[in-house]
Amino acid sequence: MTSVYLDHNATTSLDSRVLEVMLPWLREQSGNPTSRHIFGRSARTAIEHARTQVAEACGAYASQVIFTATGTEANNFAVKGIAANQAGLQILHSAIEHPCVSRPAQSLQQLGCKGHQVAVDQHGKLDVAQLESLLDVPTSLVSVMLANNETGVIQDIATIAEMTRQAGALMHTDAVQGLGKLPLNFIDLNVHAMTISSHKIHGPQGAAALVLDKRVDIQPLLHGGGQERGLRSGTENVAAIVGFGMACELAMANRQDFAKHTQALRDQFEHGLKSLNATIFSSQVARLPNTSFFAIKDIEGETLVIALDRKGFAVASGSACSSDSTEPSHVLLAMGVTPDLARGAVRVSFGTQNTAAQVTSLLDVLKNEILRLKQLTSIAA
Ligand code: PLP
Repeated sequence: MTSVYLDHNATTSLDSRVLEVMLPWLREQSGNPTSRHIFGRSARTAIEHARTQVAEACGAYASQVIFTATGTEANNFAVKGIAANQAGLQILHSAIEHPCVSRPAQSLQQLGCKGHQVAVDQHGKLDVAQLESLLDVPTSLVSVMLANNETGVIQDIATIAEMTRQAGALMHTDAVQGLGKLPLNFIDLNVHAMTISSHKIHGPQGAAALVLDKRVDIQPLLHGGGQERGLRSGTENVAAIVGFGMACELAMANRQDFAKHTQALRDQFEHGLKSLNATIFSSQVARLPNTSFFAIKDIEGETLVIALDRKGFAVASGSACSSDSTEPSHVLLAMGVTPDLARGAVRVSFGTQNTAAQVTSLLDVLKNEILRLKQLTSIAA
């Protein structure tokens, strides 16, 4: 049985056109990009070309792109690197950030940087009034994600950034889920730093970037040979960076089709979900076009994910890309969802290769599995 992949917010398959541009860098003699000879120089040229492709996909200048290995690293770099220069000032981040923003922020408490979470409302939108009042205290950094990986909810980053700038603080956004799914423009977002990652857009794992305003005073996480303007030492992963560049170019060309196609599938899916009495989270606010997050009362999300997997549908429960914790989603708890309902959460994230016929079969299987699991629970009770 071949399974249907419906977990594109966790990761995506490598596009064959991306693989093609990567292969020469894996197969043939490739120089170290810092070497002065012909092999090194051609690796350097390939990296700089990728930097331009990445910059163009997110409305930035190539000189603002700093390559890292993962989005996790870029988020750690932004949070720790900016706060390190401003010890003692508070860091603010939303209550629904990915752990690779909230955990580095917590770790800075040892340096005397107080971290505060900014609440979200029942739909998952940031409480801007609370942010404004928290900004009365001197703040080094505000980090708010562009789009949430679980609910897909999109924040008004430009407005939040303006408020942050007025208070004299720096603004970072984790745009990992926005790249390729939303129009993305670093300058229009008005932020100082922005994280993006290759493997969410059919690029390889092992490449990501922090897009950074060059005036920002930031400490590197990794010290060494001084690559990436001294901000991220370590020999560059040429093949992965070249692939990331190509994936960005393709994602930009495909973005509108992606949005149209996946939103139609999501609408079809959620129409069916309503007749199954599902609670659909954040459906009343702007979301990523491909993301549906829902729960069925009295059915554990984990149980449903396993049942669907057995029937050939790969979906996620709660936050798939953070850990294998069985705790209810911190995003839903922050939105005021009860722990019982939050434990039932299941995420379906569509991609370009999914079809309307797959959605129809998913809904059929879901209906049967819900009936079966409800019967099991009533026998057990
Ligand atoms: N930020 C968000 C919103 C994510 O969804 C993820 C997902 O994995 C990350 C950061 C981490 O990125 P990476 O997997 O490249 O480390």
